[in-house]
Amino acid sequence: MVACARSGAAVVIDPGAEAEKVVAQCQGLEVMHIVLTHGHRNHAGAKDQVKEAVGGVTAMSLQDATGYLRSAERYLQDGDRLPFGDFELEVLATPGHSPGSLCFKVGNHLFSGDTLRQGDIGPTNLPDQDLARQLTSVLSRLLTLAENTVVYPGHGPTTTVGQERISNVAVEMLRRAR
Ligand SMILES: [Zn+2]
Repeated sequence: MVACARSGAAVVIDPGAEAEKVVAQCQGLEVMHIVLTHGHRNHAGAKDQVKEAVGGVTAMSLQDATGYLRSAERYLQDGDRLPFGDFELEVLATPGHSPGSLCFKVGNHLFSGDTLRQGDIGPTNLPDQDLARQLTSVLSRLLTLAENTVVYPGHGPTTTVGQERISNVAVEMLRRAR
């Protein structure tokens, strides 16, 4: 959850489970959007419960809504900007881990879902996952952001773009492929 301290406008990102906990964190805030980085259950499972409790416009990629039989009020595309209070959430299309995987950027904070993790990338071992596309997404869309960008993966510790440029497995794979 990201909130504008001045206005109390907030965005919920990937309510995967524990809807009560998410709803409790929204107390006193105005939820403008509930956004999903992708359609997997552990990122999307509590969407409907949270929506019912706190409102906000649900949004995800059309590809993942179709692929995982989910729905949203708004379907997001690369470059979309969702305002909340003094901030904007910017949508980056980063397919690979799922056909419609997205990352969200607020200022110099990046919410990377399962696309980018500390030292690693999310798994691509299922039939609808695509390692080559994911590597392209990570290398061309994420690791090109400012090096002081703070990265909040869907799983595991926080990192920075600068750190991942040095230590991420995607960079190593690119090096070996050359
Ligand atoms: Zn996933």
